[in-house]
Amino acid sequence: MTQECQGNTPVTNASVPVGHHCKQCGYNLSGLDPHGQCPECGLPVERSLTDDRLSNSSLPYLRTLNRGVTLILISILVQLLVGVATTVLSVVAAFTGQGLVALMILATMLGTVASLATALGWWYFSEPDPGFTGRFDGTTARQVVRVTVLINAGIAIANAVVILISPSSFAQPSMSLGGLAVLSMLFGLVGLVSWAVSYFASMLYLRWLSPRIPNWWAHRFARTMMWLGPVLYVPGSCLVVGPIAAMVLYLILLNSIRKDLVRILAEHEAEPALTTPA
Ligand SMILES: [Zn+2]
Repeated sequence: MTQECQGNTPVTNASVPVGHHCKQCGYNLSGLDPHGQCPECGLPVERSLTDDRLSNSSLPYLRTLNRGVTLILISILVQLLVGVATTVLSVVAAFTGQGLVALMILATMLGTVASLATALGWWYFSEPDPGFTGRFDGTTARQVVRVTVLINAGIAIANAVVILISPSSFAQPSMSLGGLAVLSMLFGLVGLVSWAVSYFASMLYLRWLSPRIPNWWAHRFARTMMWLGPVLYVPGSCLVVGPIAAMVLYLILLNSIRKDLVRILAEHEAEPALTTPA
């Protein structure tokens, strides 16, 4: 078995031509021995020569990714706004009594719809690429993203049902129905674990996807976000701005990839000859 059949750039005895970067760390491989290893991370150079850039992927696949990332961005923006609105409303409710229960329910339902839209977005965005020829197809991260996204969606629905059954729990949490309160807490706990796993898997997935653009900034930023996200979210929660800052950085990262996808799609559509036949 040889590497020749794996990609568009056959491995020859000549040195690596200009324009090839390590698929794992982004190191410039120009002029190196194709049979050697990346000096930076040790990945065999051959693995970086298979040409599975997104510009070589099929149009339907690229459109699905773009639909997914756009849906995620919109729904996270909505969640951010709902989160801010809910915080303001609960402060107001604390001063004025129960008058705002209906508004709180509305905000929660909007939040639930946004959570479901995020889940659907991630489902599209983690679509397997039928045209991928490389050895690392990102399957593990992608599948973990998909499983946790389904769990998150289920919890969002279950939570909304609990709130619909017992809307008074908003105004007087201490007087809410015992069983439902426990159930709600359980959903919260499972949701937190699932959300955390989903977050790390999505960053790993972005680290797999970004070199295919290639977007090395997103590749490095996704790695930074694996520690910066939790740091901002957990200790940062003491100051309200922590989680908001984490979400804004997450939006910036995803938007950087969305902009590249839009550009690649435009180039693809402008040149039908580049379209991979089905
Ligand atoms: Zn490398």
